[in-house]
Amino acid sequence: MTPRIENDDDQILNLSLRPKAFNEFVGQSRVVENLRVAIQAAKRRSESLEHLLLAGPPGLGKTSVAHIVAHEMGAKITATSGPAIGRAGDLIGILTNLEQGDILFIDEIHRLSKVVEEFLYPAMENFEIDFIIDKGPYAKTIKFHLKRFTLVGATTRSGLLSNPMRSRFGMVYHLDFYTPDDLVQVLQRSAKILSMAVQPEAARAIAERSRGTPRIANRLLRRVRDYAQVKAGGKISPEVVHAALAAQGVDDVGLDSLDRKVLRTIIEFYSGGPVGIEALAAALNEEPDTIVDVVEPYLLSAGLLKRTARGRKVTRFAYQHYANLKNEKLELFAAAES
Ligand code: ADP
Repeated sequence: MTPRIENDDDQILNLSLRPKAFNEFVGQSRVVENLRVAIQAAKRRSESLEHLLLAGPPGLGKTSVAHIVAHEMGAKITATSGPAIGRAGDLIGILTNLEQGDILFIDEIHRLSKVVEEFLYPAMENFEIDFIIDKGPYAKTIKFHLKRFTLVGATTRSGLLSNPMRSRFGMVYHLDFYTPDDLVQVLQRSAKILSMAVQPEAARAIAERSRGTPRIANRLLRRVRDYAQVKAGGKISPEVVHAALAAQGVDDVGLDSLDRKVLRTIIEFYSGGPVGIEALAAALNEEPDTIVDVVEPYLLSAGLLKRTARGRKVTRFAYQHYANLKNEKLELFAAAES
């Protein structure tokens, strides 16, 4: 079971739960404040907003921010993603259709091909692109002027973005994991939209197991709702949350089966590490990108994993968690940590 995969119902619900304006967007106050100022200033000057890069792990609100920026600017948004723009021609088609002030949102922008990326540079900088028509000795370059648009890029891996790309963004913000308090607010808002009654302690119990991620909080809320309807007469209490999340394979610090598999593999096969990401991914039969983008950021932020020059190592806290899960004594594993 991979609980992070969402079915169609979940995707539709996710859309209905997406915050539409900054006053519905919980947390990330520094980013929100800076964006509010930039938007107000751009509007006062009747200019388009500078290009914006949003970085951070999946589910923290990058797509939501892109849509909110468009909404607050009163602009139209065109959304696509790095892997969806296969050829330069695809990008040219999109760019030439943009109107003054429009927002172009490119998710997973680090996955644009080199060729497409190079077409994007003059478009971002001077709002023009170079068409090459004909081939060989008859080849001619024609400049095409674009309307002043705003590119909003989102990436889970800002480290993979080339320097020329990064330097063309006027604003670069990193979204952090949310605190349990923030996630309680996210859950209360979602519960209201879904017409659910959730006891405050139950909301907190979900928040504490959501890996600091609103998308996960919302998904767990829906799983708890299903469980409560079938097994608990619809009542959402802390006990129901514990039972529902245990049934989903989510443990008491919010780790799911893949997170635990990563920790267990490092402890059992690599004596706690260090281990390189390629070797770890091979041992787990997973893509290295999945480990780096989806699993590792939270394990690092929760103090369960650390990065060293020689690879990933688990921490004492990870041993403790592993020992608790296995009902074994910490001493058994502590020696290997030293
Ligand atoms: P990303 O693009 O970073 O993967 P999304 O913007 O798609 O993340 O967010 C996933 C879901 O999480 C949204 O549909 C929304 O329901 C919820 N969400 C994300 N950030 C917030 C927030 N700050 N406040 C309320 N809900 C949020």
